[in-house]
Amino acid sequence: MNCSQNIDWKAYVLGEMSESEKRSASAHAASCQECREELAGLQITLSTLATLREEEVPRRIAFVSDPVFEPKWWQRLFTPTFASACVLAAAIVFHAYANKGPDEAAIQARIDKAVDKQMQDRMVLFEQKDRQFAQAYMAAVNLVRE
Ligand SMILES: [Zn+2]
Repeated sequence: MNCSQNIDWKAYVLGEMSESEKRSASAHAASCQECREELAGLQITLSTLATLREEEVPRRIAFVSDPVFEPKWWQRLFTPTFASACVLAAAIVFHAYANKGPDEAAIQARIDKAVDKQMQDRMVLFEQKDRQFAQAYMAAVNLVRE
């Protein structure tokens, strides 16, 4: 800074100078290029700050790790992972009660019925063959007699 006046331009733009100080500062700025640029820069900064929206300062800064952000036990119930695990567990329990496994007595009854049917079919077939054999035998006996 080449200017020897050493004027507090921040105090000037913030209105912290007396009227006489302000007047002499203005008179100096009119003749000093360097101070005019300094003043212009400060005024731009101030007007830019004035355009910013005022926001309420947060009363407390919270971190993600704070217990405040941890879900409550009932909120955990609605997380997708936990909910799907519950549905799966319920399905397993329901399946266990709904289907009590294979009914062994019913299976044995079906097997017995199938075996009985096979035996009957074989008996019918056997009787048929027996009759055929008897007829063939009688036919042979008659042939010998003639
Ligand atoms: Zn100056």
